[in-house]
Amino acid sequence: MKSMKRRNSSHYVIVGNSIAGVAAIEAIREIDRERTITVIERELRGVYSRPLLSHYLEGRVDDAVMRFRPSDFYTRMAVETMRGCEVREIDPRRAQVVLARNRRIAYKKLLLAVGAEAITPPIAGIEGPHVHAFTSWDDALALRKSVKRGTRAAVIGAGLIGIKAAEALKALGARVTIIELADRPLPAVLDREGGRIVAAHIRKNGVGLVLSRRVKEIRRKGSAIISVVMEGGEEIPCAHLVVAVGVRPRLGLCKGTRIRTRTGILVDRHMATSVEGIYAAGDVTEAAAVQGGRKNIPIWPLAYAQGRVAGANMAGEKRIYKAGRQMNSIEIFGLPLITFGESAAEGGNAEALTVREKIGPVYKKIILKNDRITGALFLGEIERAGIIAGLMSDETDITSFKDELLSENFGYIYVPKQNRAMHIAPIEV
Ligand SMILES: Cc1cc2nc3c(=O)[nH]c(=O)nc-3n(C[C@H](O)[C@H](O)[C@H](O)COP(=O)(O)OP(=O)(O)OC[C@H]3O[C@@H](n4cnc5c(N)ncnc54)[C@H](O)[C@@H]3O)c2cc1C
Repeated sequence: MKSMKRRNSSHYVIVGNSIAGVAAIEAIREIDRERTITVIERELRGVYSRPLLSHYLEGRVDDAVMRFRPSDFYTRMAVETMRGCEVREIDPRRAQVVLARNRRIAYKKLLLAVGAEAITPPIAGIEGPHVHAFTSWDDALALRKSVKRGTRAAVIGAGLIGIKAAEALKALGARVTIIELADRPLPAVLDREGGRIVAAHIRKNGVGLVLSRRVKEIRRKGSAIISVVMEGGEEIPCAHLVVAVGVRPRLGLCKGTRIRTRTGILVDRHMATSVEGIYAAGDVTEAAAVQGGRKNIPIWPLAYAQGRVAGANMAGEKRIYKAGRQMNSIEIFGLPLITFGESAAEGGNAEALTVREKIGPVYKKIILKNDRITGALFLGEIERAGIIAGLMSDETDITSFKDELLSENFGYIYVPKQNRAMHIAPIEV
């Protein structure tokens, strides 16, 4: 192994030090223990779990849990880390990345694992103090410092990040209202019925939820925020605002290069970009999707899977990324929710099997097309979600046991033997 002095070149250069970057490091080191790896990271904290940010804000998990790799991870992996360093530019002709003051680091293989950034919508008054994003450890710390018991806070956006932020703020004693443009929370993954149940559950737990409203202005007095004003004039008083209207892939480094992008960086099945020697993985990509073509699906398990495939291919092994699909598993004020595939689908040429319990917030739905499962939603009761996900991944023909899919005792016993072996086959990557 080479010594760990500051280098101006490294065989593998990884930009971004989150789950995709870490997965790539691990995959590289399983194949190549010799050549140098340098990780360049804008943040100062090393790898941590973004999905746990809301638990961290609430105080339910500590620093050690947030860092989901041991403290000697980078040493053991013989990785040079450059924290607090931003890559400003890529120079593919010279195979170099460019940092501040034109410092250059040459690479043989480059991985862009730079993730996605929070979108700031063009709303009057949104620039300025007391407006927070909720995508980084620093964001969580800033909120924890600002929000006290009784503080009024508003959250724009009832997606996954907005709901998680609201729940944590509520736990800190804040008086929270979420404002959402769509007619339901989690509009990307919930159908109307699911949305209705989750909306009622959020409100029951003491968080205000205003649906089908667009925020027009953040009203301020001096630098302080007084309220959020919606189209139509309705006003919600608040002192702090969390903006969680979505994220978009960070494509800035691709400007002026031949790296092809659309919504994200376009990658092939090896996670290679259109430029020789440059790979991409995680939230920044548009990669193979189950429904065909390529799609940006910014979720943790896919960032990990893509990072592993990218790392292995960078180290010279041919590994294939099997198409990804949308999947989410969260708890909203104790209510478990698992969705995957086309979980929000309604009408059209899809068939839906549903179960809605009269008592309690229990709702299950499976979407079928051509006798295959293309999506599912499990709310309140999630026990058999794993089996259904397996049947969907394997594209199992469910004709012979369709009527049992949502029955309480559905299990592999219903699945014909010839199909069952597929379910225990490990999913590569
Ligand atoms: C609050 C929150 C909750 C979430 N909950 C879930 C969940 O429950 N389930 C789920 O599946 N997903 C969840 N996600 C999404 C999940 O965290 C992402 O899919 C995952 O973090 C993507 O990993 P990544 O490695 O692609 O990028 P990121 O985690 O975004 O990391 C990219 C890193 O690159 C760095 N970087 C960017 N540009 C540069 C540059 N020019 N130079 C150097 N460094 C740079 C960034 O600072 C960042 O640290 C959540 C996200 C958030 C914010």
